[in-house]
Amino acid sequence: MLIGDAFGFLDPLYSSGVLLALKSGELAADAVVEGFEKGDTSEAQLGRWGEDFNRGVDRMRRLVCEYYDGFHFGHFVRAYPHLRNTITDLLIGDLFTDRVDVVWEPMESQYPPGRAPIPAWNAGAPAETIQDKEPELVLPAGPTR
Ligand SMILES: Cc1cc2nc3c(=O)[nH]c(=O)nc-3n(C[C@H](O)[C@H](O)[C@H](O)COP(=O)(O)OP(=O)(O)OC[C@H]3O[C@@H](n4cnc5c(N)ncnc54)[C@H](O)[C@@H]3O)c2cc1C
Repeated sequence: MLIGDAFGFLDPLYSSGVLLALKSGELAADAVVEGFEKGDTSEAQLGRWGEDFNRGVDRMRRLVCEYYDGFHFGHFVRAYPHLRNTITDLLIGDLFTDRVDVVWEPMESQYPPGRAPIPAWNAGAPAETIQDKEPELVLPAGPTR
């Protein structure tokens, strides 16, 4: 079983690496314990946490990409003060809940005309390989500010 950086490494911009290493260790340990309890140590059982984990990592990856492409925390919370706590939650690693996804649309509303949203980490990967594709940072073409 791969956890931490061996599972996937994200740009350390927002210092998420230790959190993600601990979180994946916790999820992997739960899958092992549950596997022993059920007498099931198959790949499916031991890897069952991967998809949700990737979804969480992708939220941090997107925040990193938005930053490199011109996102400004000050401008954002001035325009959307009710989202200040949510953006803080994301930054401190509250990544494993879709509650925080309310920030993306307002973020996109601040894009300059013509700019496309940041693609998901597995965008463009053939369907049959998505399961196996590791998280990776896809940097935008260049800063727009
Ligand atoms: C420049 C930089 C700055 C960073 N800043 C931050 C930050 O501020 N905050 C943050 O949260 N994260 C930060 N990170 C990321 C963070 O350091 C990693 O995500 C985190 O340490 C990953 O933990 P890990 O246990 O998966 O791997 P590691 O910490 O790399 O641990 C793997 C261990 O396995 C050992 N090992 C390797 N091969 C073998 C072997 N064959 N046998 C036995 N042992 C072996 C290695 O020596 C190492 O001790 C930063 C990373 C970099 C590169």
